[in-house]
Amino acid sequence: VENLPTYLASRLKESEVAIYLFHGVIPAHQTRIRNYNRKHIEIDLFNLCLKSLMRIGNPLSMNELISIFKSNLSLPKNSFVITFDDGFENNYSVAMPVLVDYKIQPTIYVSTNFIETGAQSWTDMIEAAIEVAPTTELDFNWLDSKIVLSSDESRLHFLRQVRSYVKKNPEIDPYIFATELIADLDTQKLPRYDEFLDKKLSWAQVRDLHSSGTACIGGHGHTHRIMSFLSPGNLKLEIETSISLLKERAGINSAHYSYPEGLVHCFNDQVICELKRFGITCCPTAIDGTNQISNDLFHLRRIMAS
Ligand SMILES: [Zn+2]
Repeated sequence: VENLPTYLASRLKESEVAIYLFHGVIPAHQTRIRNYNRKHIEIDLFNLCLKSLMRIGNPLSMNELISIFKSNLSLPKNSFVITFDDGFENNYSVAMPVLVDYKIQPTIYVSTNFIETGAQSWTDMIEAAIEVAPTTELDFNWLDSKIVLSSDESRLHFLRQVRSYVKKNPEIDPYIFATELIADLDTQKLPRYDEFLDKKLSWAQVRDLHSSGTACIGGHGHTHRIMSFLSPGNLKLEIETSISLLKERAGINSAHYSYPEGLVHCFNDQVICELKRFGITCCPTAIDGTNQISNDLFHLRRIMAS
């Protein structure tokens, strides 16, 4: 998107609610491969996005959205909700001060294993390794053709192929795949730990966001695996672990959740049923669109902002 603030405001709808999906906000973009898809946007741009939305829009918290949907009250004009997925530390240190200024309460959906261990997602593991990998010829049977990792373009092309391959294949464990791939890259240099791209929220920060009421906290899987790909036992474990950690570590009994990846093939009726059993009442997708008041709270659409 060429002009993100204008684009986001153009998606507001007078009688529907637009839910924006962000991942992170950083002080400055300083890497060539990492964050190539702008999962984390710069703070100046984030500020302009909110300014542009506030000019004609009305921010709602996720709890306000739920109570309006349940009571069939009417939505404020051009209403919108700000959400973040995954649980990056920059949500707290970079994005929150801006949101507080605008009096916007975002909902932050955290993958609890990231909070518990500070671990990287499999996509971040691979991106960080590709940034520092030496020039190598790669020939995997799942690639369209051989790739010589050399230029930035070839590295980005490879990353796009990895993403689409893993995200389409339920039989692949993404973390095992990432570990094996990184070993094959023969990378001598260790990827640099990037404070803004890698660091996850701490439990103390999660507690602070919750107890101050500045943000609403929800779950987003424990290990960020695609929920519809899991066996019934692992699906239950993934949900149960995330919900009990939120309770034990942060005293949060959340009714909020978002599906990791969130595309049509990433959740199903079984996933929804299991989430409901654990007290979840609202779980937005990452399918593009805005929402009418009659929409089901487990099929809410979002607009990808970063
Ligand atoms: Zn996610």
